Amino acid sequence: MEELTLAADLHVHTVASGHAYSTIAEIARDAARKGLSAVAITDHGPAMPGGTHRYYFGNMRVLPRRLEGVEIYRGAELNILNEAGEVDLPPEYLALLDLAWAGLHLFCFDGSGTESYTRAVLNALKNPYVDGVVHPGNPDFPLDAEAVVNQAAKYGKMIEINNSSFHVRLGSLEPCRRFAALLKTQGSPVAVNSDAHFAGDVGRCEGAREVLCQAGLSAEQVVNSSMDKVQIMLQARRERLKLI
Ligand SMILES: [Zn+2]
Ligand SMILES: [Zn+2]
Repeated sequence: MEELTLAADLHVHTVASGHAYSTIAEIARDAARKGLSAVAITDHGPAMPGGTHRYYFGNMRVLPRRLEGVEIYRGAELNILNEAGEVDLPPEYLALLDLAWAGLHLFCFDGSGTESYTRAVLNALKNPYVDGVVHPGNPDFPLDAEAVVNQAAKYGKMIEINNSSFHVRLGSLEPCRRFAALLKTQGSPVAVNSDAHFAGDVGRCEGAREVLCQAGLSAEQVVNSSMDKVQIMLQARRERLKLI
């Protein structure tokens, strides 16, 4: 796993999130400096206090496809709102995006307990617009890891090992190790993302790399370790959405 470096960072926040501190231009500059080929701008969905309005996502077409030589994907980090797995952008907005993550966040989820959190994530993964689940190791929302990994594998969705978790969501290490071990067994798609809320953190993956390494997971299983795999994933999304 020592060789794991990110070709694309698929989970990055801008000032639009309300609690992040860099612009898209600053993020692109940092990504270019670090040799990344692509970044996905994935600000929090509208249910996050202080965050975006849905129009923010509706207008992403004004963004250049490439900045500083770095491909810019139009994305979102959706809030899972309830046990039914509903998310905070409607399909007509989700259809405009290149990719969308879903995750559980404080102040945004109506429910409590592992069973409730797990049901919510399992249902969100069924949503054809959702490409994967972010920071499933978050100790604020303990999940039935086996059920989540199996559901992601069934629907061909990514499970994220989130590099920020190791310093902002304390207590994430053990749950992430459990996810990594299950992912290794299942052989299903993994994403390693910075979840940067400041440009300087874009592309960082050292904590996640260590967890995957300890689990014996190869870089081959990490979707965003090569642009070829990223393109295949984005194409699979487009094909999936054609069927709706
Ligand atoms: Zn955030
Ligand atoms: Zn998040």
